[in-house]
Amino acid sequence: MFDLILRNANLPDGREGLDIAIRDGRIAAVERGIAAQAGAVIDASGRLVSPPFCDPHFHMDATLSLGLPRMNVSGTLLEGIALWGELRPLLTREALVERALRYCDLAVSQGLLFIRSHVDTSDPRLVTAEALLEVREKVAPYIDLQLVAFPQDGYYRAAEGVAALTRALDMGIEIVGGIPHFERTMEDGRRSVEALCRLAAERGLRVDMHCDESDDPLSRHIETLAAETIRFGLKGRVAGSHLTSMHSMDNYYVSKLIPLMAEAEVDVIANPLINIMLQGRHDTYPKRRGLTRVRELMAAGLNVCFGQDCTMDPWYSMGSADMLEVAHMGIHVGQLGGIEDKKRVYEAVTVNSARAMGLEGYGLEVGCKADLVVLQAADVIEAVRLKPTRLLVLKGGKVVSETPARVSTLTLEGRPASIDMGLDYRPRAGVEG
Ligand SMILES: [Zn+2]
Repeated sequence: MFDLILRNANLPDGREGLDIAIRDGRIAAVERGIAAQAGAVIDASGRLVSPPFCDPHFHMDATLSLGLPRMNVSGTLLEGIALWGELRPLLTREALVERALRYCDLAVSQGLLFIRSHVDTSDPRLVTAEALLEVREKVAPYIDLQLVAFPQDGYYRAAEGVAALTRALDMGIEIVGGIPHFERTMEDGRRSVEALCRLAAERGLRVDMHCDESDDPLSRHIETLAAETIRFGLKGRVAGSHLTSMHSMDNYYVSKLIPLMAEAEVDVIANPLINIMLQGRHDTYPKRRGLTRVRELMAAGLNVCFGQDCTMDPWYSMGSADMLEVAHMGIHVGQLGGIEDKKRVYEAVTVNSARAMGLEGYGLEVGCKADLVVLQAADVIEAVRLKPTRLLVLKGGKVVSETPARVSTLTLEGRPASIDMGLDYRPRAGVEG
């Protein structure tokens, strides 16, 4: 006897028509035609059933603040930073919590149940940290929220940067952040990477730095981050976020750098939406894309993840908590249009990010948590193409969000009465006619 059986599900690994049985909030069986009884049965009807999306890089203290205190007129990174500087002194705990909770509602509806958010620790009042710690607790029944102490204005550059970041960790923020390329000098950047890795090692914490988010080919803090990861015994617990300067680096240097990153087992977190929007701004034409070397990093065996970074905040006026939008952009910017490429990109917003976040019980194997998403698409290739409706989102075997399928009714003579975009347009390779 099971609590729930999801019948006729297609899985991200390509297996089709399987039943997923759930008992006590965990996956109890994944087989064809499970005969046992269940408290409830849901027919997935040949649609994709996936573990939830994971966003390994987000800024929940800024999200949904678009328009406060004014709009970013130029749409540039620099005006965004200036705008955030104007907004920061006005932030209240209540307003931060309210915006973050509203964002999490949207995330759940998009099947996004695992989020790592950076929390700006530059204002020593740390109202951002207080608010996000409250949010982490409030959303725990439906979203696993990880928090990174992030010195937006520079660990050494901000007046009380060192003390404020330490205090944020003391308050309960569990990951050490950094922004070495934004320190006053290369040398300060290098020192910040060393100091922050030491801090993480002393406290047994993970590290996730904004690293080399620029088009400067000589911004090489990722090299230091990899070396310090090895030196402090932090292998498998360190992520380099953005790494956009790698796009512009000399190829010979990169041929030495990528093996070092692989040796250090550094997780790579690219943010395709934000990278394509904000990089290359000093270029006339041709304009660089700015995305890190996704294909080469994947080929070298590194764990490459895609994050969203922003939704409707001073830096980015777009976004919709949709990790398939992120995947879709990543495919274009990284020219990852091959069949195997698309599968790897789907992994970048699911299993790879789960691995970088150290999630326990994530996946579709027996024994994993019954956190599942039913999509209005037949497989992962179609999912990254369509960004389809998340029909059902389950947390611990319970439905937490439901969205009607998008089906269009047509009144065209001699043509079908309706189309289901999620199933009717799947490629029919080799069966034409
Ligand atoms: Zn960021």
